[in-house]
Amino acid sequence: MKFEVTILGSSSATPVFNRNPSAQLLNCNEKYYLIDCGEGTQQQLTKYNLKATRIDYIFISHLHGDHYFGLIGLLSSLHLNGRTKSMQIFGPKPLLEILEIQFKYSDTVLRYPIEFFPIEANESFKIFENSELTVKTIMLNHRIPTTGFLFEQKPRQRKLIKEKADEIPMAYYTALKKGIDVELPDGKIIKSEDYTTPADPPKSYAYCSDTMYDERYFSTIKDCDTLYHEATFLHELLDRANETHHTTALQAGEIANVVGAKKLLIGHFSSRYKTLQMLLEETQSVFENTELAIEGRTFQL
Ligand SMILES: [Zn+2]
Ligand SMILES: [Zn+2]
Repeated sequence: MKFEVTILGSSSATPVFNRNPSAQLLNCNEKYYLIDCGEGTQQQLTKYNLKATRIDYIFISHLHGDHYFGLIGLLSSLHLNGRTKSMQIFGPKPLLEILEIQFKYSDTVLRYPIEFFPIEANESFKIFENSELTVKTIMLNHRIPTTGFLFEQKPRQRKLIKEKADEIPMAYYTALKKGIDVELPDGKIIKSEDYTTPADPPKSYAYCSDTMYDERYFSTIKDCDTLYHEATFLHELLDRANETHHTTALQAGEIANVVGAKKLLIGHFSSRYKTLQMLLEETQSVFENTELAIEGRTFQL
């Protein structure tokens, strides 16, 4: 089952050096989940051949423009292109008012419904669940209320061993995949463990942007498989990071260590950095399995 994320934007504040403001597209079993929607997200989706029409869920971390200025454009285009299925949007409560006022003054009545789910930024809780994954909020520490999102796959079924499964009627597959032994009409017992292999362990992806180093959210992202964490500045600008409630590259690596993440992606880079190698090296000095979450890269989670 597919579980991967494509980076659409890696820049903080403004688009510079071919870097776009924050946006990521999570693909879970061919369902699309958009995480933040900075300016230019539509063009990025087109550039990387990702169909915006397939997005059914949008998660907005906070109301700084670099995380949602692309949203009204995306929603409007979907309307113009004839979308009728609903869109679920999760974000800070005032976001709905912001969208409504823009639609009001452009005299736009969307052809499709928006189901809006306001997020309270006071404690971590589950905001979404379907048959494949759950999404929980991560309480971040930024200048305005901000939440990250923890995407966790649900435990999956055992996998049929194809060559062996051909011997038995398909009607028994569901039970076998659930680990249940079955009895055929002729009395033969079919053991699940003989006809299936264990399921892949469920994976998790934690999205943390924007925030300063704050131990209070560490328990929510403990032992996550892949952690995306902002790393706006080099550590020599720690004072600036604290002042603006952001994280340094070194701190991002420390956080990945403390929470026991298996892999770290860093992003949300300050416009003062034309190249990013120094940020990557600083993070890798404390957490080696780090990669730059830059535009166009897709990571298997
Ligand atoms: Zn930001
Ligand atoms: Zn921000």
